[in-house]
Amino acid sequence: MGDPGPLGRFGEYGGRYVPESLIGACRAVEEAFREAWADAGFRGQLDRLLATYAGRPTPLTPAPRLSAELGLNVLLKREDLAHTGSHKINNVLGQALLARRMGRTRLIAETGAGQHGVATATAAALFGLGATVFMGEVDMERQEPNVLRMRMLGAEVVPVRTGARTLKDATSEAMRQWVGAADEAHYCMGSVLGPAPYPWMVREFQRVIGDEARRQCAAELRAAVPDYVVACVGGGSNAAGTFAGFVDTPARLVGVEAEGGAGAARGRLGVLHGVRSMFLQDDDGQVLEAHSIAAGLDYPGIGPEHVQLRDAGRARYVTVGDDDVKAAAVRLARTEGIIAALESAHALAWVMRGELPAGSTVLITLSGRGDKDLAALREAL
Ligand SMILES: *Cc1c(COP(=O)(O)O)cnc(C)c1O
Repeated sequence: MGDPGPLGRFGEYGGRYVPESLIGACRAVEEAFREAWADAGFRGQLDRLLATYAGRPTPLTPAPRLSAELGLNVLLKREDLAHTGSHKINNVLGQALLARRMGRTRLIAETGAGQHGVATATAAALFGLGATVFMGEVDMERQEPNVLRMRMLGAEVVPVRTGARTLKDATSEAMRQWVGAADEAHYCMGSVLGPAPYPWMVREFQRVIGDEARRQCAAELRAAVPDYVVACVGGGSNAAGTFAGFVDTPARLVGVEAEGGAGAARGRLGVLHGVRSMFLQDDDGQVLEAHSIAAGLDYPGIGPEHVQLRDAGRARYVTVGDDDVKAAAVRLARTEGIIAALESAHALAWVMRGELPAGSTVLITLSGRGDKDLAALREAL
């Protein structure tokens, strides 16, 4: 998982499919990121923020009761304990620091469930930047607490009323708004998607998950590397960050998608939001709506680097359905006392299927905490 070069290519995937008017803005972000990422001063500032503000390193938690039940050795990477309750803060602090370095005064972002919007509003408040968050009208109703959190933090939440009024439409609108505002605003993409350099840059900002977990596994395990490394996949940022720490080891990498949002498992090659990758489409190439009980996995595609990893046979991508996800979240809560996000419960549900060889060591990234999901679990409880 290296540098995809100036064209942002991951094999035949990736690239920069944006209107002429955004090419310059994307190039400016890439140039600034390349410079910053090679600058020990910038890296030091970000590390310090991650430690003093975001709560890093997050712990690696052994799960003894669940492990005994499954006949596995399960280790949990606890992104649920990061500030704002998910891994999103890692990426957003990096991009906010970059925006300030570029002299931008405002962050523009899309959000679905609201987790990325909340993280963006948080970083904007911390840096004294403006924040404009585009959110589908349907999602605003479904995720009202996160709308209120964003407003509490001083962000402007703009309802998007086009299309199905969910994440895909919010992303289109956010990119459109960036066209007219690129001199003063930074577009803060929430996953390993979008035009180059975003898939690469977001993976680099999230690789702190995998780098920490690699060190923590070495301390925790006699064999330094787990047999399996498992993470849920919406666009694929927490998985990409986790995999980056293990791609050069023998660990088997597994990305778990929602059955109704499975870009790698069921998508077709296409272009959406500036990137060539796999998207759910109909026979005419129209991008379809995704459906998942976990709003954070409700995106009809997957980041380009994941498709490259899949084609190369380095990672595999599987799916689980909503019922198994709910059961997995309840089971983790009752065996380990941890309420995980329904997104993260996809990774748990796949491991709980019981298909892994007895005695295997399995690292699972818990991408976020589950307080936001309790209403969706009402019936299961
Ligand atoms: C946003 C989100 C995801 C999905 O995004 P990725 O880019 O695939 O990581 C997963 N889990 C949580 C808790 C989220 O907030």
